[in-house]
Amino acid sequence: MIKLAKKYDVIIVGTGVAGLNCALNISPDKSVLVICKDTPDKSDSYLAQGGICRLPEESDFDSYFEDTMRAGHYENNPESVTAMIRGSQEVINDLIGYGVQFARNSDGSLAYTKEGGHSRPRICFHEDTTGREITTRLMKAARARRNILIVPYVTLLDIICDDKCCYGIVAKDGKNGRLYRLYADYTVLASGGIGGIFENSTNFRVLTGDALAICLNHGIAVDHINYIQIHPTTLYSKKKGRRFLISESVRGEGAVLLDKNFERFTDELKPRDIVTAAIREQMKKDGTDHVWLDMRPIPREEVINHFPGIVQHCLNEGYDVFRECIPVVPSQHYFMGGIRSDTKGATTMPRLYAVGETCCNGVHGKNRLASNSLLESLLFAKRAAEDINKNYCPEDMQAARAAEKALDLSKYANVSKLLKEYKDTVRAAISAADEADRAKEEA
Ligand SMILES: Cc1cc2nc3c(=O)[nH]c(=O)nc-3n(C[C@H](O)[C@H](O)[C@H](O)COP(=O)(O)OP(=O)(O)OC[C@H]3O[C@@H](n4cnc5c(N)ncnc54)[C@H](O)[C@@H]3O)c2cc1C
Repeated sequence: MIKLAKKYDVIIVGTGVAGLNCALNISPDKSVLVICKDTPDKSDSYLAQGGICRLPEESDFDSYFEDTMRAGHYENNPESVTAMIRGSQEVINDLIGYGVQFARNSDGSLAYTKEGGHSRPRICFHEDTTGREITTRLMKAARARRNILIVPYVTLLDIICDDKCCYGIVAKDGKNGRLYRLYADYTVLASGGIGGIFENSTNFRVLTGDALAICLNHGIAVDHINYIQIHPTTLYSKKKGRRFLISESVRGEGAVLLDKNFERFTDELKPRDIVTAAIREQMKKDGTDHVWLDMRPIPREEVINHFPGIVQHCLNEGYDVFRECIPVVPSQHYFMGGIRSDTKGATTMPRLYAVGETCCNGVHGKNRLASNSLLESLLFAKRAAEDINKNYCPEDMQAARAAEKALDLSKYANVSKLLKEYKDTVRAAISAADEADRAKEEA
């Protein structure tokens, strides 16, 4: 059994790409604890299929910037978008340095694929398992580092804080039942999205926005909590549980959407919100639970080499993509809103950072452009680590102890009740934001 220390220099909540890349960029002389709610591979990062964007060449900057802004309905923060695009080559180089194998052309250069909303191919990929490839390599690198400890089945329940700053976390070990109160000079929330609060989602069920609820409870700023992306194409199923994604790059490579009469009804390469709206409208018109996706326009070799995971999963569900259409339906997929953070991951509470899908730095605006999320998560997690390294100073232990003493421990006695309350807090905040937006539109 792993015995945890009372204090770490940095505590990171989450083992997705954001948490891992943050840990790997913290100075090796600092002790880093990384916790996760389930096993380390139960992160949405692991599930990413399509790929990760990279600025292919300088002349593409304006077009990549415009594609990101257009997809986001121009509600994006231009400073964050610029930082993300400018940092994309560095991120891909780092990943290659960790051993990530991206698809290559015959001359050895990176191969790019295209997805909806992109005006040209600029997405690096590894078959249809890019997330697994990246996460596995980062995990291997993190495990090899002596200063990083990764502990599974430890759930963040709260932060230790006063009205000035964050001093660490309260967490529960799901295996031995211990309640930890851990100090950290810096705490980083990298706890992913909120798909677990929706009935139909591509996300792991454990991702329920706990950190978001904790921030809401402590008055830490949260932005655009109702900006939630629905992915147009997940495999239709009557079974309960996580929905299987049919990557957008399938449409990028030529797959088409068909109605109940097997006729095309929309431009498959529009941004996600537009394609989703078109599918929902068509389903309503046809009185169906799904539309059809035909992958047969994609050359057979391309399907075999690029999408082996999708082919196999569909076969397991009884569909042969080489011979027939597959039924698809929109499902919750991504969270554009989140804990307010700047381009260095800093939240409105000193010593508390938020990176990855749980944060909102304005990169995505109202709707995320495909394959910008892994990039955004990796880049701003690295920037957060660099900011911590640069400004490192130990916390005030007297204040930390006082904040710990002020905790009401009875709150953490029933974890499932508390986590359910957190889900309700997030749902209520989403409804309130929807209501406020409606009122604004009507005014
Ligand atoms: C099916 C699918 C396909 C996708 N494909 C792509 C793609 O091709 N390209 C792209 O750019 N993006 C894609 N995305 C989105 C992208 O994968 C995610 O946005 C990104 O990986 C988020 O990374 P993260 O590190 O912020 O969170 P995650 O990878 O989700 O990690 C969250 C971590 O937080 C932990 N956690 C959560 N709550 C707690 C708690 N209370 N206590 C302790 N730990 C906690 C979890 O256990 C987990 O370890 C896809 C997403 C899905 C679901």
